[in-house]
Amino acid sequence: MRGVVMFAPGDVRVVDREDPEIVEPTDAIIRLTATCICGSDLWPYRGIEPAEHTLMGHEYVGVVEEIGADVHTLKVGDFVVGSFCISDNTCEICRSGFQSRCVHGSFVAAAIGTQSEFARIPYADGTLVATPTMPEPELIPSLLAASDVLGTGWFAADAAAAGPGKTIAVVGDGAVGLMGVLAAKQLGAERIIAMSRHPERQALAREFGATDIVETRGDEGAAAIKDLTNGLGAHGVIEAVGTQESMMQAINSTCPGGHVGYVGVAHDGVTLPADQLFFAEVHLLGGPAPVRRFLPDLIDRIWKRSIDPGKVFDLTLPLDRAPDGYRAMDERRAVKTLLTL
Ligand SMILES: [Zn+2]
Repeated sequence: MRGVVMFAPGDVRVVDREDPEIVEPTDAIIRLTATCICGSDLWPYRGIEPAEHTLMGHEYVGVVEEIGADVHTLKVGDFVVGSFCISDNTCEICRSGFQSRCVHGSFVAAAIGTQSEFARIPYADGTLVATPTMPEPELIPSLLAASDVLGTGWFAADAAAAGPGKTIAVVGDGAVGLMGVLAAKQLGAERIIAMSRHPERQALAREFGATDIVETRGDEGAAAIKDLTNGLGAHGVIEAVGTQESMMQAINSTCPGGHVGYVGVAHDGVTLPADQLFFAEVHLLGGPAPVRRFLPDLIDRIWKRSIDPGKVFDLTLPLDRAPDGYRAMDERRAVKTLLTL
C-alpha cells in the first residue's frame, strides 16, 4: 500500500508500505476514505521533534475491511471514525472519560501512521465508532475532523468549562483553536474571544462563533482580554498552541476561579512558574484529548448537520501529493490539509 513516511525533518515522501494484517483478535483493518495532516505533524517536519523514517498520520475515517475474532461492535463494511488515541474504552480510566490515557492505550501516530491506504486499529471496539449508515460524501471532511481536531477543540472547550453565560477566550488560531471556537459556541458560551492576527482565520473564527477578535499576544494579549472583561479575565480559556508564551497568555487571561483547557502539544522547555500559578488561582486541565469520549455526540451533531467542522480544511490534495500539503501548512498557506484516497 501507499503511505506517508517522514525520512527526516522536511523530507516527507509517499512510499510503498507493507499492507497491515490482523495481529490481535481485537484488531480491525480499515481502508482509509480520507486522512489529513495535523498541526502536530509540523513539529517533526520543522525538526523540533525527531523524525527518522517516521510513519505519519493519526486522523482517519474509513471502511472496515476485516475484523479480528474478538471484535463485536463492528462489522466488515461499517464506516468508522476513530480517535487518534487507541483505547479499550472499558478500563477504569476510560470509564472516567480519559480514554486518551487508557491503561491499554497507545498513540496512532508513528506506530500506525494513517496517512496511508490501510491501517490496523488495535482495540477496534473501544477505539472506533461506526456511523449509522454510509455517509454522504459531503460529510466526510467533518467526520474526519472529529477524529482529532474537532474532538481536541471540544475537549479543550469542555475543560475550559464553556457553557451558557460564559466568556471563553481562545489562544491559537490553528485548526484546533478554530474548532475550540466552534465547540465553545455549541456548548452555549455567550461571548467567544478569538486571538488571531490573520484576517482569513479571523473570518473563519467568526463563522464558527467568535464574537470578538484580539490581535495582540503574550502579556499584551492577556491585558486585552482583561480590558474586554471588566479587568477580570475570561471565565475559560482554550490554549491551542503549546508554547511558553501561549500557556502563560492563557493562564494570565483567565479570571480567578476560571478554567484553562490546554491542548497545544507542549514541548521541552515549557515550564510553568509555580509562584504565578499559585496566585493565578485557576483550574488547569489538558493533555491529549480523550476524543473517544466525545465521538458519539460529535458524529450525531455532524450527521444532523448542526455543525460543519469540515470547513477547517482549506486545502484538499490526493495522498500522493502529501508533501505539498506539508509545505502549505508549514508556510501557513493552509490551515489544514485533507488527503483523499
Ligand atoms: Zn481503557
